[in-house]
Amino acid sequence: MIYSIALDGPGGAGKSSIAKQVAKLRGIVYVDTGAMYRAIALYMLKNNVDIHSEETVVSQLENVDIKLEYRDGAQCVILNGEDVSTQIRTNEVSMTASVTSAYKQVRAFLMDTQRNVAKTTSVIMDGRDIGTVVLPDAQVKIFLSADSRVRAQRRWLELQAKGDNTPFEEVLADIEKRDWQDINRKEAPLRQADDAILLDTSNLDFQQSVQAVLDIIDEKVK
Ligand code: C5P
Repeated sequence: MIYSIALDGPGGAGKSSIAKQVAKLRGIVYVDTGAMYRAIALYMLKNNVDIHSEETVVSQLENVDIKLEYRDGAQCVILNGEDVSTQIRTNEVSMTASVTSAYKQVRAFLMDTQRNVAKTTSVIMDGRDIGTVVLPDAQVKIFLSADSRVRAQRRWLELQAKGDNTPFEEVLADIEKRDWQDINRKEAPLRQADDAILLDTSNLDFQQSVQAVLDIIDEKVK
């Protein structure tokens, strides 16, 4: 049986690391939709596109080709033939993605690719609008959240590990700005689907969060 798990929530809630582990344990495919929005943002940054002009961003989409490939079980994002999986993980790309993802045609541009993967194989797909818009019929919907200071702390530690010394207060401010933009946009805003289960990971460590997600899945997918 093919089934889909929609995992939504704000940045830093732990979606991608949890989804990766769950995909491995259940032998299903992990689809990181944020990486696709990030790849579009990276293209705009590299080509000095005015990201605040919706028209300009949309007119550039015809030059963008995004593919997802899987190597040793890990998702790679290919932008115009180049593997950009590492380059998209900067704070600048996060903030840019939050601006360009608000545009309707940017979202439409990625929607088919996202839906098509879920048609052929079981997936755990993470994002902001998976349970509400992309896969409204997903068998399992989870909304992962955590206090913004906890999320900022996790992000800050990740950045430190990569040698990026952005101060904590700046990481927190960026997380809160991105939350605000993602929640308040008109197109596919970040919100919990009516039939999604809320999981707050503020007081859970990684293993406990993975277990909590597995318990929800096992309850729904028999
Ligand atoms: O999940 P991640 O932090 O990689 O997402 C980067 C940005 O892409 C988000 O802040 C959001 O604006 C956008 N995004 C989205 N819809 C998704 C996934 C990500 O709008 N399904």
